[in-house]
Amino acid sequence: MKNFSIAIHGGAGTLVKGLMTQELEAQYKKALQIALNKGYDVLNDGGTAVDAVEVAVKSLEDTPLFNAGKGSVFTAEGTHEMDASIMDGNTLNAGAVSLVTGIKNPVSLARDVMDKSYHVFLAGEGAMQFAKQNNHEIEAPSYFYDEVRYQQWQGIKDSENFQLDHSVKKDGKFGTVGAVACDQNGNIAAATSTGGMTNKKWGRVGDSPMIGAGNYANNETCAVSCTGSGEFFIRGVVAYDVSCLMEHKDMSLKDASSEVIHKRVLDIKGDGGLIAVDSKGNIAMPFNTEGMYRASKTSEGKEVIAIYK
Ligand code: ASP
Repeated sequence: MKNFSIAIHGGAGTLVKGLMTQELEAQYKKALQIALNKGYDVLNDGGTAVDAVEVAVKSLEDTPLFNAGKGSVFTAEGTHEMDASIMDGNTLNAGAVSLVTGIKNPVSLARDVMDKSYHVFLAGEGAMQFAKQNNHEIEAPSYFYDEVRYQQWQGIKDSENFQLDHSVKKDGKFGTVGAVACDQNGNIAAATSTGGMTNKKWGRVGDSPMIGAGNYANNETCAVSCTGSGEFFIRGVVAYDVSCLMEHKDMSLKDASSEVIHKRVLDIKGDGGLIAVDSKGNIAMPFNTEGMYRASKTSEGKEVIAIYK
């Protein structure tokens, strides 16, 4: 049996340290622990990396603490538009959805796009039709209502501003979610899900559903899930860049991830972080923000649950 491992994140837009209470910190860590265990159990039972990342991300989508699924932020119209993607590093198959509303678990919809359609990326109305055809759970707007998110939106609603988790004072609950895993067969996968940014408009889409930008997996190199200022992560083709450094420059997972987050993303003034695994089960979780909700567990018994540096 090969080493296996999983890493998850709940976004690089953490509360600034001064605003974090012990009670809140405990809540975040508990939610991370639950999602981590769910994904790890799949791997421990001999399941696939794809199943593990889907299960872990679903768990993060179901808590209101993170900006994905139930906890998604408000758009300029007062709605919730979610993006998600998943990629199988063994086959290079991928699925993604964007601008979907009401979907309880966007990551599972992305999974169905990968498994049950000929396509990779479905958006908006069409993605909603596909969801209905495949019997995805659709929730009423009240399911996604959260007082803190609502107040965040009220604060900037009548302005031209949108609120990126990573660039403004963090007085609320933020965070795209993601998972990467390496299973007992050395296959790797990545999944990412987000509500995007508060007060977004014009059908804005970030990096999270874009294969190669916010999410990527290839058994030959790495599986990566990003969180950060999406526009910069798209321009930097960040997830694929980590893979390219490993493939073409023979860099280790750790060095390639670090080069991208601490140099290349910063060079274009982006902020955020990523989680990554390779097919040997190595894990990297670099970020250039104050914190990143993150957790990881390996078959060798190493477990990490952390928020700040
Ligand atoms: N990357 C996400 C986006 O730009 C946001 C985040 O990671 O918090 O949509």
